[in-house]
Amino acid sequence: MIKNVLVEEGCIACGMCESICPEVFTIGEVSEVNEGIDFASYEEQIDEAAENCPVSVIKVEK
Ligand code: SF4
Repeated sequence: MIKNVLVEEGCIACGMCESICPEVFTIGEVSEVNEGIDFASYEEQIDEAAENCPVSVIKVEK
């Protein structure tokens, strides 16, 4: 069960996480985690985004 999702420093705004899970990630200058998200509803997509981030800055707290 995911408790929190963070994007650490170093995001290169490639767009990958938003394309995998737009409900959770929004790309501005860097990727940001949307407010008020029930992470449990998007567990698979969040894990996939974290695994596919080219600079490994998506941290998933379980
Ligand atoms: S996949 Fe990683 S580098 Fe790409 S926008 Fe998302 S957090 Fe940033």
